[in-house]
Amino acid sequence: MSEERKFICVSCPLGCGLTVTLDDSGEVVKVEGNTCPRGASYARSEVKDPRRVFASTVRVKGGKLPVCPVRSKTPAPKGKLFGIAEEVARLEVEAPVKIGQVLIHNVCGTDVDIVASRDLAAAV
Ligand code: SF4
Repeated sequence: MSEERKFICVSCPLGCGLTVTLDDSGEVVKVEGNTCPRGASYARSEVKDPRRVFASTVRVKGGKLPVCPVRSKTPAPKGKLFGIAEEVARLEVEAPVKIGQVLIHNVCGTDVDIVASRDLAAAV
């Protein structure tokens, strides 16, 4: 028996409503509602390997500010986001921090790096 799932495509501000039809084995057999090919690939990825960009802050020792914003360099598996949040919450880095600096490599074994989202100078 086939199954239908509905998503909103978040690949651009248009936000097309997508309907994905899966066969008995969970394979995507049809994507409808997408206005462009990106919507179809988003729908397939959302069914098979849903991912999100992770964003948070980490504590900074000796910085002009006590925390620095961070994000995942690439979208991380949705099912690992709580584990990633826990690992990031345990981290404290030394100032200065450079934008794009890798603060956690291969977070939670996901092959995704956590990087700084801004420069943060050391306190003078
Ligand atoms: S299907 Fe294409 S046009 Fe529609 S929201 Fe996704 S990326 Fe944008």
